[in-house]
Amino acid sequence: MQFAKPSKETDPYLTLDCGQFQIMGKSIAGVETIFAIPQWNLTLDSGRAPLFAVHNDYLALTHWHLDHAGGLAHFLSLRCLNGLKPLHIIVPPEKKDQTDDFLNILKKTAESELSYITHASTENISLQKEMSLIGIPNFHCTPSTGYLITQTKNKLKKEFERFSEAEIIQAKKSGTTITNTITTPLLAFSGDSKGEFFTTEAIRAQYLLMECSFFEEEMNVQKIDDYGHTHIQDWKKYADKIESEVVIMTHTSQRYSHKEIEASCQKHLPKSLLDRLVVFR
Ligand SMILES: [Zn+2]
Repeated sequence: MQFAKPSKETDPYLTLDCGQFQIMGKSIAGVETIFAIPQWNLTLDSGRAPLFAVHNDYLALTHWHLDHAGGLAHFLSLRCLNGLKPLHIIVPPEKKDQTDDFLNILKKTAESELSYITHASTENISLQKEMSLIGIPNFHCTPSTGYLITQTKNKLKKEFERFSEAEIIQAKKSGTTITNTITTPLLAFSGDSKGEFFTTEAIRAQYLLMECSFFEEEMNVQKIDDYGHTHIQDWKKYADKIESEVVIMTHTSQRYSHKEIEASCQKHLPKSLLDRLVVFR
């Protein structure tokens, strides 16, 4: 008797340690895109539903191209198998009704107890205490959305900082508002998008997950733009605008090697961006 062994060809998924949270997944143009963030109970795009993502209760789909959303059925099946609560599925508003129709038919066809709640990405989704998810504009060739994850905290107002604990309690009791609400954009995700995503509020998120599908010098950048994707020239164009502390390049095409991607980034991007750049590949 023997057991089958894993091989080099077995697709590996990646993990990026971001301190308070981890990003686990994979993103290759046309093949599979998924980012699971277990600390936030969230998965961005379904990819092919790897097991480590299945326990997250929120699944935010950027659009319905199948390298991003094709794993949804398997996600629901694995959650059913594990007796998990309904999966919150978030989709672009234009695709909400079609998503409901598709899932109804899937349920009937599979004769399975699939358990889910669908939301439009325009809804502000509370992931957990202080953490929210909302759709933000992106620019693709089909109805789609980017996502922004924010953290909201109450911070004591400056004028109360020198007060004693008793004085603060007293002020609170008398109905005075003693805190300001501070909202921090933690992470933005482009999904598939043309370079215009760099003109949105996403560039102020602490972590920016942005696609860069193409790198060849001789390519027609306008054509790539028309398909709703990004070329390294677009990154070059907007590089100085990006304020994010960590910029994560995703969705690189499998036609490029690591070496080719690195050479192209080194050639086109300024040092100020290269110092913050992680290629999720
Ligand atoms: Zn797409």
